[in-house]
Amino acid sequence: MKVITTIHELQSNIESLKKSVTTIGFVPTMGYLHEGHLTLAKEARDHNEVVVMSIFVNPLQFGPNEDFDRYPRDVERDTALARNAGVDILFIPNTDDVYRGKQSVTMSVKERVDVLCGRKREGHFDGVVTVLTKLFHLVQPTRAYFGQKDAQQVAVVDGLVKDYFFPIKIVRVPTVREEDGLAKSSRNVYLSQQERREAPILYQSLKKARESIMGGEQDPSVIMRNICDMIQEHTSGKIDYVELYSYPELYELNRLEGEIIIAVAVQFKQARLIDNIIISVEPEEKLNV
Ligand code: AMP
Repeated sequence: MKVITTIHELQSNIESLKKSVTTIGFVPTMGYLHEGHLTLAKEARDHNEVVVMSIFVNPLQFGPNEDFDRYPRDVERDTALARNAGVDILFIPNTDDVYRGKQSVTMSVKERVDVLCGRKREGHFDGVVTVLTKLFHLVQPTRAYFGQKDAQQVAVVDGLVKDYFFPIKIVRVPTVREEDGLAKSSRNVYLSQQERREAPILYQSLKKARESIMGGEQDPSVIMRNICDMIQEHTSGKIDYVELYSYPELYELNRLEGEIIIAVAVQFKQARLIDNIIISVEPEEKLNV
């Protein structure tokens, strides 16, 4: 595995690779790697000749009161994990190289951002699409791998590649979880022992919602209320949102039909956790056949 830290070196490596290789799989991350990231890398490994992973804690996607400065970092450990996962090129640029001086063109996301995390984290997805546009141009991947854990991010990136004709297939990889169901996240290290015991309730409440939908519940407000009740009753966290939309368009729904997402965000003392499930709901007529 090659570790590359400058844009210049990455460009010359990609240029020479492109002469002999037809598929490049790309896994963008912010590092502090865990099973979730490594699953994306393995997925990329299985379907591409070359796998590129980036580690970049992108300042542009953090709000002024968010955890940019204390975001966990461990490049040495990440390098060993990436190598084991079969990554060919690990790209770890520095901020000054990615954002050279003042940006003369900025990007602003218009759709799929006024809900879920986008509503709470103003400018977050502008930062995400900006850095991804840069990385996509540099890496020129055939496929790029994203986790369903950040389902709104996948929806926004889907809009980016379609609107701007990036010839890249976006692959959504199911959320990787701890044994007790908690979605793996670099931020889980901030949970206190008690919060860690409470945190699996998020996924349990989502699974319960899925069961009630499969049992015939059709009313989004009932489903969301039940999730809120369960989280409030069993955790010390503060609910940031519990929302239900069509996926990936993220439109509000009066009745459940097609692909839907149910997503939650809960603020604990030092960590904000998110989780979601995406369910395919058959139209009622079909169910009755
Ligand atoms: P991050 O480093 O948090 O920006 O995440 C990098 C990529 O890994 C994103 O596409 C995330 O959605 C994905 N990811 C993070 N956690 C998980 C998880 N538990 N399961 C699957 N993918 C994940």
